[in-house]
Amino acid sequence: MTPPAPVEEVLKRLALSIPDPGMELDYRNPFELLVATVLSAQTTDKTVNRVTPALFRLYPDPRSLAKAKLSDLEEILRPTGFFRRKALHIRELAQSLLQSFSGTVPDTLEELVTLPGVGRKTASVVLAHAFHKPAIFIDTHVGRVCRRLGWTRSNDPEKIERRLAELLPQNLWIETASRLLLHGRYVCLAKNPLCTRCVLSDICPSATGS
Ligand code: SF4
Repeated sequence: MTPPAPVEEVLKRLALSIPDPGMELDYRNPFELLVATVLSAQTTDKTVNRVTPALFRLYPDPRSLAKAKLSDLEEILRPTGFFRRKALHIRELAQSLLQSFSGTVPDTLEELVTLPGVGRKTASVVLAHAFHKPAIFIDTHVGRVCRRLGWTRSNDPEKIERRLAELLPQNLWIETASRLLLHGRYVCLAKNPLCTRCVLSDICPSATGS
């Protein structure tokens, strides 16, 4: 059996190929990042970035968003897909922020996941990027890359998160999760991974020559 890709070497190469693993969603504060991350389900960050300027111009905080008319929200969110559900979700999210946290986005995982529509991944993204707290966010891209590198066999995001937490020093959690995500999004594609162009091809147990 081919051994897993060596962690240190993977980190070194990904750091060179993705020097700036920044967040692709646009945001100015924790509230905007939280809403934008919820909206990014089933669509691209680029599409979310197209609608959020208008959204946050009209509804810059939980108080205004909590009172928004659903039909107005739906109109703004239409390009993101599932716009009716998303309109409902972000309004409920704003209402819950007001009721439970006085309109301030909480900065712990335990509190964030109590908000409607906020799962562990969204909570970790907000913790990492808005509050700069160590967090590992596992989405479909991160999970796939970890499996292909042989770091896990699991499809369970929580198990993959625990595995990465074992493999990585805490000060590298955010940047590594960001790099794995971008690597999965642009190189290690779900259907046809671009192995011949991948900087990890000679150390990856799943590399194909095609
Ligand atoms: S070599 Fe292929 S399977 Fe392995 S990480 Fe790179 S793109 Fe993914």
